Amino acid sequence: MLKSIQSKLVLLFILVILSVMLTVGTFIITNVTRFYYSDFMSQIETAVFTEEFIPQLSEAAEEENGAQKLAELLEAASGRIGVDSYRNYAILDGQDGSILDASDELLGSVEMTDNILAALSGKIGNSIHPDGTYMEYAYPIQVQDGPGFIVYIFETKEELNNFSKSMFSIILQALLAALLISVILGYLLSKTITTPIKNLTARAEKMTQGKFELGDPSVSKDEIGVLTNTFRTMGQRLQETVQEVATQNTKLEKIMEYSTDGIVAFDTEGELLLINPSAKKYLSVEDESIHFDEFFSGIFSDVSLGDFLYLNQDKQIIKETDYNDYYLRFYFGSFKYSDDKIGGVIVDVQNVTESRKLELSRREFVANVSHELRTPLTTVKAYIETLESGMVDRETQEKFLDTIHRETDRMTRLVSDLLTLSRLDNGVELNLTRMRVEAILKDVSEKMQFEAKKKHQILSYTMINEIPAIALDYDRMQQVIINIVSNAIKYTPNYGAIKIYSSYVSDNAIIRIADNGMGIPQKDIKRIFERFYRVDKARSREQGGTGLGLAIAKEIINAHAGEITLTSKLNEGTEIVITLPVEKSFASRGKQEMDS
Ligand code: ADP
Repeated sequence: MLKSIQSKLVLLFILVILSVMLTVGTFIITNVTRFYYSDFMSQIETAVFTEEFIPQLSEAAEEENGAQKLAELLEAASGRIGVDSYRNYAILDGQDGSILDASDELLGSVEMTDNILAALSGKIGNSIHPDGTYMEYAYPIQVQDGPGFIVYIFETKEELNNFSKSMFSIILQALLAALLISVILGYLLSKTITTPIKNLTARAEKMTQGKFELGDPSVSKDEIGVLTNTFRTMGQRLQETVQEVATQNTKLEKIMEYSTDGIVAFDTEGELLLINPSAKKYLSVEDESIHFDEFFSGIFSDVSLGDFLYLNQDKQIIKETDYNDYYLRFYFGSFKYSDDKIGGVIVDVQNVTESRKLELSRREFVANVSHELRTPLTTVKAYIETLESGMVDRETQEKFLDTIHRETDRMTRLVSDLLTLSRLDNGVELNLTRMRVEAILKDVSEKMQFEAKKKHQILSYTMINEIPAIALDYDRMQQVIINIVSNAIKYTPNYGAIKIYSSYVSDNAIIRIADNGMGIPQKDIKRIFERFYRVDKARSREQGGTGLGLAIAKEIINAHAGEITLTSKLNEGTEIVITLPVEKSFASRGKQEMDS
């Protein structure tokens, strides 16, 4: 019960009132008693044992029946003495203190008090004895012959006690009333203190649950008012800080969520702290219970948590590896908290699969180019050296010169093809002209008739239906068709047939070039458009091929927003289909419009 401020305050009030009332009560009662004594003594001295009365008493005492005379004299002065039911007088024997006469008839004897004893020895017994049951005054009266008398005035304390009792009951009533008032006042006053404190507590509790209800500022200027307003300001700051932190966290979460880099963090025990979606994807992590050493020891034999935490604390270690379908680059490094204590290890995982592929294909490309150039150069050099030695006959000389000629032509073609590809790679603008596709096909089929005839092949062109004019780069498109048709001628045996068709289907221009030649094995088809990819390298070279024809064709068709596909069956033939969009072609790629 005493836990609340309210009950403590009420108790404090009660204690204050009790102590005040008890102090005041004791003070009053003590002083009243003291007053009674001094009043009794002064009354007796000023009203009874006066300068006039004392000689009268002495005179009466000298008479023969002195005690009786004294009694008569005192009886006569009983009004002045104040004799009543409480106050009485007695005439005592001056020698033994026995009662000779008294106003209180029932009085049989008196107690031998200090005052009586003093009077017996001839002194006035007027000392005060607060602990006694009555107040007294003993006055010795000497006589010439005999022991003399003592005039003894005594008063019971009954009146004083009654007064004290009623005083006590008044104080008690006042105390009860004061207590009641103090309880009520204490309760009300403490309420004015505790209500704002309770409100503050309620707000603070809500704050701990993240609910910021700041309320209106307090108008009170007292300590609690100041506390309320300070608390309010603190709440505002806290709310702002919490919001700021939340915004920062959301930003961080979003950055982590959308980062293409994988981020994984581990604590100093190697337990996972956080992992973002990219890291989960690259590392194929589903549940979040991975441990640093368990996980990375399976990937890199020389990576351990201890190294980062103790040995290589401020170093960043970079590692690369193939992992599942990715080629990943890992940046390992330890991180510290603001108190400079090491917090664990953070791993940045970058998916470098594409750049790795590019790097590999670049290397492969350089190797291919070098190889493609070195082979004919070696041949040419060897033939020239042989020719220079002059050790060959005329017929062989001609053969050698013919080969040198062929190889140089092929090298020229190779360099020219590489230049074409390089331009296409660098996004060279197409020189677009609005024209009929059929015109190109007709041109090429006419131009290539000579080549076909050399192998007794039939090269035909059939227009199935008319295609609307399309925006095309004439030279480049012609190069595509020539590449494909010359391939068909090259890889089709004598007496074969090469057929070109054109048609207009669903807003697309379709060009098909089919032969009944040697075909391509199934396994090679998917790579056939790659640079330098050839089914039979030797045969291709022999035929003067560079291995770049189809790669160039694909680049050019793609630059026209079209598609090129190849289907083939070994020993049965090959068909290449080019699809060019008619509608969009000019709108999206057109530079200039010129009807063919
Ligand atoms: P190349 O200069 O070697 O002909 P291409 O890129 O034009 O290079 O062709 C790549 C390879 O595709 C050729 O080496 C050949 O093996 C194969 N190829 C292309 N066209 C045909 C075809 N019509 N019939 C059979 N094989 C073909």
